[in-house]
Amino acid sequence: MAETDTNPGYDRVILGGQVMDPASRLDAARNIGLRDGRIAIITKEPLRGRDTIDARGLVVAPGFIDLHSHGTSAETYRFQSLDGVTTTLELELGTSDVDAWYRERSAGEAINYGVSIGHIKVRMSVTGDSGTFMPVDNGAYRVSTPALTDEIVKRIEIGLGEGAVAIGAGFPYTPAATRGELLGVFRVAAATKTPVHVHITPGVAGLKEALSLAIESGAPLHVAHINSSSLAETPVMLAMISDARAHGHDVTTEAYPYTAGMTEIQSATIQDIYKSAPDARLAEIEWPRTGERLNRESFERYTRIGGPIVVHTNTEQMVATAITNPLTIIASDAYWQNGTGHPRTTGTFSKVLGRYVRETHSLSLMDAIRKMTLMPAQRLEARVPTMRQKGRLRVGADADITIFDAASVIDRSTYREPSLPPVGIQHVIVNGVSVVANGQAVDGVAPGRPVRAPIDRR
Ligand SMILES: [Zn+2]
Repeated sequence: MAETDTNPGYDRVILGGQVMDPASRLDAARNIGLRDGRIAIITKEPLRGRDTIDARGLVVAPGFIDLHSHGTSAETYRFQSLDGVTTTLELELGTSDVDAWYRERSAGEAINYGVSIGHIKVRMSVTGDSGTFMPVDNGAYRVSTPALTDEIVKRIEIGLGEGAVAIGAGFPYTPAATRGELLGVFRVAAATKTPVHVHITPGVAGLKEALSLAIESGAPLHVAHINSSSLAETPVMLAMISDARAHGHDVTTEAYPYTAGMTEIQSATIQDIYKSAPDARLAEIEWPRTGERLNRESFERYTRIGGPIVVHTNTEQMVATAITNPLTIIASDAYWQNGTGHPRTTGTFSKVLGRYVRETHSLSLMDAIRKMTLMPAQRLEARVPTMRQKGRLRVGADADITIFDAASVIDRSTYREPSLPPVGIQHVIVNGVSVVANGQAVDGVAPGRPVRAPIDRR
């Protein structure tokens, strides 16, 4: 053992795991040494450190990066860490006050965190919407005017100057926003090379609208949850995105592995569809606290109360099409409020690894890891250069590492029990510090740091 004693000391070593790195295509047993929150060495040689993680029989991957998450509380950060997530970003709704959002988390969180400046949230703030999470009145329905557009655009520019990771938008949540208003937002995005993360109006026409804004302005476009925005049109809409990319446009997309979505019953996107839909369609909606499917009477009653609903509109076949397409990044759309939420909050990444990789063989393990690590990092690198240190296992990269058992990893959460953690995610390391050890959350640690674009206050 004498020769190993001469190794420089590492803070921690991860020994004997199958190291899988999509950027370098390394897929081999290696030892990893960590120092000062970064990867210091990846080697076949023996290593010693002050602390040792035995990874024999386990896969060692870059920590998972989630481009789409709501909740952004200590509770949801803990849930997501148990699913292997080391960086989680709220880029769709975002915030209207970027400085305040980061300040609220400055004491540290379990995992790395970041936010967009959100068109929805800015519109709610500027119009004085009475909703707390999503627009329910003025933010959704206040008519666009040149003055309103100017104010919204100005607030988005301020958010970008404060280091927002992206611009968020959700067209069905803001039905009164005109094309001119949205084009104003996209032009700011183009000028700052900022991707616009959009919840499009569902269907082909909605994707065409988003693509035309991106192409006219030159802004990078990221289409949120293509699964729930495409449903039966998933193949054609993925082909449209592929075609736009082939023509040189910077367009990306993401998916989560569930056939049902979740949103707020009072939101415009639900009310505008289901208030005028045939009564029979209300059975698509589940009230998760009781598991009941809604009818006209219960829909109106729960609309008065408010709260999250589960919306069952997709098929397993279309979800599999979305998840396994080479274009899609895996992103959870994690949703958790007042003690309840969608099972994707706790199960997205483990479900893809267990179900689509191991059980149905519809995705290789390396491709699945790429969709969870390298691809989301690359989406943000032009805007956030520090993302070049994430999503990879290489010397100098941030020590954000997820270690799992490929033979057993699987989600356990359900629509009735959405908080159940997965199995098989054994160790999750954020900036060199374990937030999950032996499958259990480690309490009292907050190694997560802000992910933020360079600040430029003018
Ligand atoms: Zn959405």
